Amino acid sequence: ERRNPGEPEFRQAVHEVAMDIIPYISDKPIYKELMILERMTEPDRIVTFRVVWEDDRGSIRVNRGFRVQQNNAIGPYKGGIRFHPTVNQSVLKFLAFEQVFKNSLTGLPLGGGKGGSDFNPKGKSDREVMRFCQAFMTELSKHIGPNTDVPAGDIGVGAREVGYMFGQYKRLVNRFEGVLTGKALEFGGSRIRPEATGYGCVYMMQAMLAHHGESIEGRTCLVSGSGNVASYCAEKLIELGAKVVTLSDSGGFIHDKEGLTREKLAWVNELKNKRRGRIGEYVREFGGEYFEGERPWGVPCDLAFPCATQNEIEADDAATLLANNCRAIAEGANMPATPEAIKMIQNNKNLLHAPSKAANAGGVAVSGLEMSQNSLRLQWTREEVDQHLHKIISTIHDQCVEFGTAADGHIDYFKGANVAGFNKVASAMIAYGVM
Ligand code: NDP
Repeated sequence: ERRNPGEPEFRQAVHEVAMDIIPYISDKPIYKELMILERMTEPDRIVTFRVVWEDDRGSIRVNRGFRVQQNNAIGPYKGGIRFHPTVNQSVLKFLAFEQVFKNSLTGLPLGGGKGGSDFNPKGKSDREVMRFCQAFMTELSKHIGPNTDVPAGDIGVGAREVGYMFGQYKRLVNRFEGVLTGKALEFGGSRIRPEATGYGCVYMMQAMLAHHGESIEGRTCLVSGSGNVASYCAEKLIELGAKVVTLSDSGGFIHDKEGLTREKLAWVNELKNKRRGRIGEYVREFGGEYFEGERPWGVPCDLAFPCATQNEIEADDAATLLANNCRAIAEGANMPATPEAIKMIQNNKNLLHAPSKAANAGGVAVSGLEMSQNSLRLQWTREEVDQHLHKIISTIHDQCVEFGTAADGHIDYFKGANVAGFNKVASAMIAYGVM
């Protein structure tokens, strides 16, 4: 609190990791002597800047931009850019800190960072979004580069925004280089990148269930959110024979007892990405029920996939999921469960729970593969990228099992992911000496 005043999300993320790492390093004096964990909690640097742009009426608008460069011990900083009114230094520091562990788990040479702005893309015209993105990149371009820091998308930043930002970067530096990931296919994007986080989250669930002799087929699933991660998570679940009965946005959630189909999902994608409408409109088109201002966790389910935002599962939601005999949770969003909710879930060994740094690492993993393809000046096929993604997620699952299995056989996926992610970064930092 003294060191990071007014940063509750950041302290929450550090606390969750520290509770696993402190016992793990208690018999490894080198880590304590070199203050590795303390050093990892302090970002290498944070850049904040003014973003000035003009709206369609000719009025001048001022927003704040950030880039948190957390740790580059094992590779260039890598992590998304978020445009949302709730963006502040605490939120981006929590995301950047988590990103370091997640990127390490992928096995790829990627450091951790995160950035964004308190700009709200909702209700803005395409031209306004373009002018904002250009103004944002004009400053950000001074701090990033293909071997320094390679941002990607996150909440409020999808293909449209990445396109505007990449175009502006290219114009400013006069070089065509892989400085952003999540680009469109025509200018260096990777196949499966849009799908990767959602698909990866389902692959993690598959691996977790398979390890316990179970499968996804026929199971009732709750998905929250209706953006990039949620929609591809739902798509893969449907493909694997599961029944997806909810989606949500910041206005509320829809419950479709019949289950979503590919066609319904295509309609949602059009609604969210083209018309930029609200999920409540779904029930007018397909029936079902809309619950304004609520989250989906009260609907009975077998599997839950929080894919909207941080702290969207609170203690009473966890209690309801447990009471409804939910079998497993895979976190598509970053830190979607509060510490109280995590504790309740961990006290019940019948509910498997994959943390975001393991379950949503598919996105950054394919971003890493996009960087490789850009360096090679090649584009791999869907099958090639999907195979890599499968392999990476299955290796992450194995690492969670290796470092998270207790004497009684129970697997603490949080502990496994934290320890495995920590080990690689810590070894690199030790190798570099005190700096
Ligand atoms: P999108 O902007 O595409 O979608 C976000 C979805 O979550 C929207 O449905 C949005 O609703 C909803 N949402 C956002 N904020 C809130 C809130 N405060 N309360 C309720 N609902 C909210 O973002 P993504 O799908 O890319 O990201 C979702 C999550 O996944 C985030 O936690 C992100 O950090 C994480 N993630 C994303 C990755 C990626 O590759 N995109 C990679 C790894 C993690 P509305 O439309 O009303 O705003």
